[in-house]
Amino acid sequence: MDLAYSPEEEEFRARLREWLAKALPTLPPKPSPDDWPGRRAYDLGWQRMLHDAGYAGLHWPVDAGGQGATPTRQLIFLEETENAGAPYVGANFVGLLHAGPTIAAEGTPGQRARWLPPVLRGEEVWCQGFSEPDAGSDLAALRTRACRDGDDYVVTGSKIWTSHAEVADWCELLVRTDPDAPKHRGITWLALPMDAPGITVRPLRTLAGSAEFAEVFLDEVRVPVANRVGDENDGWRVTMVTLSFERGTAFVGEVVACRRVLGELARTARENGRWDDPVLRRRLGRLNAEFRALWRLTQWNVSEAEASGGVPGVGGSVFKLRYSHARQELYDAAADVLGPDCLDLDREWTLDRLSSLSYTIAAGTSQIQRNIVAERILGLPKGR
Ligand SMILES: Cc1cc2nc3c(=O)[nH]c(=O)nc-3n(C[C@H](O)[C@H](O)[C@H](O)COP(=O)(O)OP(=O)(O)OC[C@H]3O[C@@H](n4cnc5c(N)ncnc54)[C@H](O)[C@@H]3O)c2cc1C
Repeated sequence: MDLAYSPEEEEFRARLREWLAKALPTLPPKPSPDDWPGRRAYDLGWQRMLHDAGYAGLHWPVDAGGQGATPTRQLIFLEETENAGAPYVGANFVGLLHAGPTIAAEGTPGQRARWLPPVLRGEEVWCQGFSEPDAGSDLAALRTRACRDGDDYVVTGSKIWTSHAEVADWCELLVRTDPDAPKHRGITWLALPMDAPGITVRPLRTLAGSAEFAEVFLDEVRVPVANRVGDENDGWRVTMVTLSFERGTAFVGEVVACRRVLGELARTARENGRWDDPVLRRRLGRLNAEFRALWRLTQWNVSEAEASGGVPGVGGSVFKLRYSHARQELYDAAADVLGPDCLDLDREWTLDRLSSLSYTIAAGTSQIQRNIVAERILGLPKGR
């Protein structure tokens, strides 16, 4: 990738900046962190505004409802929206950043036409039903069972840590369709309508007080066979596509947000006298270098993905591993800058610090990313 921007790209940036300056002041007030229906409406409303202005699905393929823009334009979009303080992708995380891209890569034309436009238009929310109580890092051990009955699968089992399940319309669901096959070969990827009879969602409260994820119980839920993405028992391969997007590109926008927070930390430290501490200054300087490096790694990963058909490669694990730790270090530094104020739960940085603890667990723990880097990039022998 050429790291310099062309005149056309700079023009795209200027137009976007102008639109953001007009659009952002028209947004309604942000709902409180635990008002999930309110957050859903807010996040979908913002997505609709992006769509109507021609900024939805910039880098999605044209035949998946996107605009087929270059990865560079998508990165400019992320830089400008974050720097302008535009809303986070929020409840649209799964739909826009990994279920949607998986369907774009693996779905039939009919599936793409059914599921992708409502995501881009800000009409439907997706969640991810992968993890189970005994299948997290060892995801292929999942036991939720799907038995074929005519044109439906009948699904029974339970999922856990399902983010946004309470407000989702659809769930990317992994089920076991062949219990006798080796564990990676008996899995199928389904799109589950969250209003189907037999689904119970039980919210789980995090240490920050918000119920952002849930347990999902499935009792003989009927899912049409037509909702299967990929072949029956080929779901592990489709899952790898989903995880590549989740680890490789889903957190990219957050790197820009972290760089913005770093700037705000330096400003706050100058105002409250903490800037006099050379150890803190060195820490913020090192973090600045770290996030700049992560941004370059992002550019590299995104352009590699583009060159290899759009699906990010295993390099996403390097990014996820380093990014999740850098994010925790950033919010530890924020606590240092804020002093006792960092205990105030009404402060955005306090909540972000608490949620940063989950980053080395969600989307595959750091240990699992290290295993992937060791085995698949460095070629080290497989662990036992
Ligand atoms: C905020 C958040 C949101 C989430 N959202 C979703 C969601 O929407 N949908 C969903 O399906 N899941 C979601 N998850 C679940 C997440 O994917 C799992 O928590 C994660 O994969 C780890 O699984 P586990 O919790 O079962 O831990 P375990 O797999 O039980 O791991 C426990 C510990 O053992 C270590 N370990 C396990 N196996 C190995 C190994 N082979 N080598 C070295 N160390 C190992 C792990 O690194 C970890 O430290 C979410 C998690 C969080 C924190």
